[in-house]
Amino acid sequence: MLKVSCPRCKKIQSYQPQTGSITDKIKRCVYCGCSFKVHSNQVKSRIIN
Ligand SMILES: [Zn+2]
Repeated sequence: MLKVSCPRCKKIQSYQPQTGSITDKIKRCVYCGCSFKVHSNQVKSRIIN
């Protein structure tokens, strides 16, 4: 289980990665509904740990 922060509301939420690469996975924020890439690149990664 990973922790990711929403780029819009900054809320931290858990993310359960599916099998395969997470590089292009899209997560929908459970708080504001915004969709964002979980890990588009090193700089823009939303993964906290
Ligand atoms: Zn959000």
